[in-house]
Amino acid sequence: MIRNCRGQTKEWGGRLPVALVFPEEESLALSTLGWQRVYKDLGHNNLFYVERFFWDRKSGKAKCPDSDKTLADFPLICFSLNFEGDFLTLINILKAENIPITASERSDWPLIMAGGPIAFLNPFPVIPSLDFLFVGESEGRFVAISEVIGNAWLKGNSVSQVIASISGLPGIMIYGQQQKVKKQIFLTAEGYLDSPCHSTFVSRASVFRDSFLMEINRGCPYGCRFCAAGFIYRPPRKSKTQDLKNLVQKVNPRKVGLVGTALTDWEDLFSFLTWLHKRKVKFSLSSLRADGLDRKFLEFLRRSGTRSITLAVEGVSSRLRRAMNKHFSSEKFFRAVELISEMQFNTLKLYFILGLPGESDKDFHDLAHFLEMLEQARKKGMGRKKKGVDLISISASMFVPKPWTPLQWSPMDKEEVFLEKVRRIKKMCAQYKGLRFQAEKPFSSRIQGLLSKGDEKVHDLLVLASENDNNWRKALKMWSGNIEDYIGSELSVEKDFVWDTIDLGVDRRYLIREFDKYKKEMLTSPCPDEPCPSCRRCGMDKFLSDSSFPERRPAALTSGKKDFPDGN
Ligand code: SF4
Repeated sequence: MIRNCRGQTKEWGGRLPVALVFPEEESLALSTLGWQRVYKDLGHNNLFYVERFFWDRKSGKAKCPDSDKTLADFPLICFSLNFEGDFLTLINILKAENIPITASERSDWPLIMAGGPIAFLNPFPVIPSLDFLFVGESEGRFVAISEVIGNAWLKGNSVSQVIASISGLPGIMIYGQQQKVKKQIFLTAEGYLDSPCHSTFVSRASVFRDSFLMEINRGCPYGCRFCAAGFIYRPPRKSKTQDLKNLVQKVNPRKVGLVGTALTDWEDLFSFLTWLHKRKVKFSLSSLRADGLDRKFLEFLRRSGTRSITLAVEGVSSRLRRAMNKHFSSEKFFRAVELISEMQFNTLKLYFILGLPGESDKDFHDLAHFLEMLEQARKKGMGRKKKGVDLISISASMFVPKPWTPLQWSPMDKEEVFLEKVRRIKKMCAQYKGLRFQAEKPFSSRIQGLLSKGDEKVHDLLVLASENDNNWRKALKMWSGNIEDYIGSELSVEKDFVWDTIDLGVDRRYLIREFDKYKKEMLTSPCPDEPCPSCRRCGMDKFLSDSSFPERRPAALTSGKKDFPDGN
């Protein structure tokens, strides 16, 4: 019998009870691989008793689907931060459990920490609510950190003793301690992912219903200048095809979801899908590039049951697509649309981004021409049968300047400017039958922009939003800060950002050069095929060479004041 965080005794089997909280609804949690990996890795370790918690919209609480335990039963509460919107949910969840929402108000267990992609993008708006963060990818050293905490808990150490014991360990960021923290990553000596991340749960409730998800690659070699994934997951890495096949043979799933970027670039894609098809395993693909869609591949997709194709166009004009480093071939794109129409796929989904820096009238004239070409390609594909793709669905999101991207210094459009652009595209699309248009809400995107670029002062705004039924407009009026200071105008490249204390390996000078190339509408070639750091372009070469990278060891091992105890 050991004590729990309320000081009561409870049988936890001599293990550290850990609540793994995904502050979004269950459907999203079940389609996110990082936290599922942590759940599996901690769950397989005898030192931990792990329960999963999802945010429940109805009750406003985090609920455990597997037991009637509540968060307050757990001495270690780990939040997985995957979206900026998780900041407010995290605060709401703590409030709902009567756990003080700032670390400074808590003197005893539970210890509250966070990890996940937002922990290395920019966690600063929520940092005052956390005792510490783990900055790195899930296979990094999170289990080792948890072991340090677990052993300290079992010895009866206080929270402050535990924090002292993990302070300075690689990947650990503690509120109020401002030393630079290196992101923990994990790759083999040949540059592969060590082992593919995959679903721990296959569920009807998942966004990817009943699918066993497998990570094909991580990061993206293209480096589109608006996209954080192309920078924060450097160097781009892929899974070994044989590892993926071994997994499928072991799990024997009915349906596989392939997770990754630019999947059509993967040299083994076609042979792997053919292998799945022969085994009668259904599949879905997360991301395709139009230039990889030839007749043979599309025919195969159609034959094997794919009904819908999704393509990201991003900028509204070819000029903006070039500026954002999109490597987009209009010729190949419209040829792909023609084939998609000819083969009568049910839906073609296209994604655009509105409000990119420098967007102007001439870009919307280009968009009008693009829509005409789209219609022509669709009709050409129909041929004499007069039957083609049923629906072309266009979705627009608003440009959000993300930390660690070359556009991190850029402003966002005002809400009314966004709304006018949305009206304009809607009108353009209405001219074409079978073309449906939908757009994100500009106000929500601006809040996302503020949270993306926010510092600790934004924590007050989160608290105000939480106190006012999540009403952001009301909270903004009451807040002492000003949203325009964060996203209202272009910032000098000399400006330091709060997230500069995190080291992801990408050199700031590289981001500045890329920002300049955006303005000059110049392309940068993708990362070469050879394992990083063959090109020595963005700074990852130095980051990787700081540690010796023996096979199957994490990066940046030597970056902290201390290393782990033996055996970790
Ligand atoms: S050093 Fe080159 S290969 Fe490595 S991440 Fe940077 S651009 Fe890509």
